[in-house]
Amino acid sequence: MKKTYFKIDPWKIVEEDFDPNKVKASESIFSLGNGVMGQRANFEEQYSGDSFQGSYIGGVYYPDKTKVGWWKNGYPEYFAKVLNAPSWIGIHITIGGVPLDLNRCLEVSNFRRELNMKTGMYTRSFEAQLSLSIRIGVEVKRFLSMKEGELGVIRYQINALQGPADITFDSFIDGHVKNQDSNWDDPFWTHINKISSKDMILLHSKTLKTEFDIATYAKTQVFDAQGKSLGNFKPFEQDYRISQTKNNFLEEGSFCTLLKYGGYINGINHKPADFEKVAKQLVEQFSKKGFAALADAHRKAWAKIWDHSDIQIKGDEKAQQGIRFNIFQLNQTYNGRDTRLNIGPKGFTGEKYGGSTYWDTEAFCLPFYMATKNQNVARNLLKYRYEHLDKAIENAEKLGFEKGAALYPMVTMNGEECHNEWEITFEEIHRNGAIAFAIFNYERFTGDLTYIPEMGLEVLIGIARFWAQRVNFSEYQKAYVILGVTGPNEYENNINNNWYTNYLAQWCLRFTFKEISKIKVKHPKDWERIKKKVCWEESETKQWIEIADNMYFPKHPEKKLFLQQDGFLDKTLTFASSLSPEERPINQYWSWDRILRSPFIKQADVLQGFYIFEDHFDKETLEQHFDFYEPYTVHESSLSPCIHSILAARLGRTQQAYTFYLRTSRLDLDDYNREVEEGLHITSMAGTWMSIVEGFGGVRVVKNKLHIDPILPISWKEYRFKINFRGTLIEVKVARDGVNFSHSNPQLSLYFKGKLIST
Ligand code: BGC
Repeated sequence: MKKTYFKIDPWKIVEEDFDPNKVKASESIFSLGNGVMGQRANFEEQYSGDSFQGSYIGGVYYPDKTKVGWWKNGYPEYFAKVLNAPSWIGIHITIGGVPLDLNRCLEVSNFRRELNMKTGMYTRSFEAQLSLSIRIGVEVKRFLSMKEGELGVIRYQINALQGPADITFDSFIDGHVKNQDSNWDDPFWTHINKISSKDMILLHSKTLKTEFDIATYAKTQVFDAQGKSLGNFKPFEQDYRISQTKNNFLEEGSFCTLLKYGGYINGINHKPADFEKVAKQLVEQFSKKGFAALADAHRKAWAKIWDHSDIQIKGDEKAQQGIRFNIFQLNQTYNGRDTRLNIGPKGFTGEKYGGSTYWDTEAFCLPFYMATKNQNVARNLLKYRYEHLDKAIENAEKLGFEKGAALYPMVTMNGEECHNEWEITFEEIHRNGAIAFAIFNYERFTGDLTYIPEMGLEVLIGIARFWAQRVNFSEYQKAYVILGVTGPNEYENNINNNWYTNYLAQWCLRFTFKEISKIKVKHPKDWERIKKKVCWEESETKQWIEIADNMYFPKHPEKKLFLQQDGFLDKTLTFASSLSPEERPINQYWSWDRILRSPFIKQADVLQGFYIFEDHFDKETLEQHFDFYEPYTVHESSLSPCIHSILAARLGRTQQAYTFYLRTSRLDLDDYNREVEEGLHITSMAGTWMSIVEGFGGVRVVKNKLHIDPILPISWKEYRFKINFRGTLIEVKVARDGVNFSHSNPQLSLYFKGKLIST
């Protein structure tokens, strides 16, 4: 079992040491977000040690010109980067002429960070010896309001513990921001206007090329120990760093409290000409309410979220903390209100993976949002892809496809492909299948029969057309093959006949055919509209079925097994257990050439197919494939352990499922893949949720009915989860002495271990 650095607590993440080597990792772990904006947990005061500064705004990106060693036709012109935005959190402090900098203090003691996931409050406290005669104590509280999307609040309290403290506060907005992953070191922002007064500071910036207008605003106040205002701040401007500054003298033993309200006003919601007016209204309204009232509204918003989505585990605090951390982060990343936004693999916690949307959204995130939120949230995620259909068709055209074939991008911000490694951009085409499957899964789970005729069918047709053109008939195999692909396992590139991809393609063709036949009868008006729009030819489906019926699948010559791809058995088949801990993760220590020739599997690939199409295979077949592939799997994608946990649970292997569960749920908390400094693995967090609800909980929808077939991990006394199934909130409690269901819908039919029960 992995060693834990953060204290185990059911509702809190706690760090009790100041370790400069862990600052970047903790900046990721303690990140805050409210679905609209987010930020890494950078210190407010100066910090000269190693740090990764990051503030991000949902949907605001820059098309960074592609940088590759050797240009290949078809590469996208740019990679859409989630932008590091001007930061409003800075509060630099100087005491008796000495800057407060935890990297330079004589001593830092009693350092503590706490993220209270129940209330959404982040607290940091410490004592610092600045000089032989000055020692201070600091407590900072910070939150990004779940109630008011444009608001973040900081309460910064300083105690003069030893010696009087002559303090200068410099509370500022910093426009000098850069992305760590910038390709050409280009500036991404231009600043248009700045406003500084005693009441407020504001920086109006515009992204270059994409022209997003953003106003970063802040207001700072300071109060004495009795809560009396210590007077106004003075504005000060230096280039694009605009401050409110103030001096304050603290007697030994007394304290003062600084309050800072700040955030972003986005040009997609307000006219840029109104930015100043809006900011003035916001700061006035927020400072009138004050810290306590705003924090309370924020806590109440979190209470509502937890009421629908909390999972309680009794008897295992490590597992409990893990799942809550995952649910917390998912809610910080996406709230489902704005169809222009999506879920980036790192959310608001880092820059890696630049663009926002990957196949992760459909393959991993959709089930979480579908079951813990209002149905519209999941529908909005699907609508996002519908709105990008034209771009997916253009994307396919750029690669030589025609007649409305759609290839959805591997990575995107606006529908355009922006990934630029050929083996992924051109070859990891299974993403198209995940989108089609999500449409099926959405209808199966929500029972919403309107999405497919209104939007989904057009997406399905575009995808089916793509597969029909992407296959070729092999005279040798007398079957349709798909050559030159990368499956979910990115440790194999340019392979032929990835089983998962071929299986998905076959399924998409058949499913689309079935849906067309259904819509023709049930929604003739929609079909008339769609037919015209997509220039439908009746002969298309005949060709699709011919391809689907004659699809080639690589098979083991002796065992009853599907092979991950052609030639998989030619590899030197050594197990992952033969690797030493020093060479793992192999992507950090091995050459790419060695990885590609090895049998090691980055993440579920054939098994991803067994997860998605669980009902197509019996348990014996699943078991054979699980036992064959898992030993080669290094789980170096965050998306891997969750799928293995679910499949192990299905096989009744409770302990193995539990080990994978801990790995997925504590991936970042325990830094399994040694990369948490770069940000959190947000999309796999939804996989963690699936490993409890679909894995241990055994939740499935079969023929429109909800089925539950749970198991209980050995170390757990009990667990409870809630799901919103077709408008009914159902709580499931699984304990040693039995399983209970509670809900308020007398019409609901629920199946427990395959039998209809009355609840
Ligand atoms: C995985 C992909 C995934 C991406 C973003 C990669 O490491 O292999 O499947 O889409 O991360 O999460």
